[in-house]
Amino acid sequence: MTTEQNETIRILRELQGSKCFCGAKKAMMQSFCRPHYSSLPPLMRSVLYQRFGEGYEGAYAKAREYFEQNQKEGK
Ligand SMILES: [Zn+2]
Repeated sequence: MTTEQNETIRILRELQGSKCFCGAKKAMMQSFCRPHYSSLPPLMRSVLYQRFGEGYEGAYAKAREYFEQNQKEGK
């Protein structure tokens, strides 16, 4: 299995699970917990509605990058 496939599976499991990457509870089939989700810019939120395999993984990766950058800035 390639690294890319592993990453895709990891993202899918996270989407189906009930925990945000931060450890907080989230709804199944939602990407993030409410505080994380609501901190995203509207454009990033809307791309997370893309289907899995049709852009969702990329949107998810961008959202994670966004969170990391915001943390570094100490927000
Ligand atoms: Zn979270």
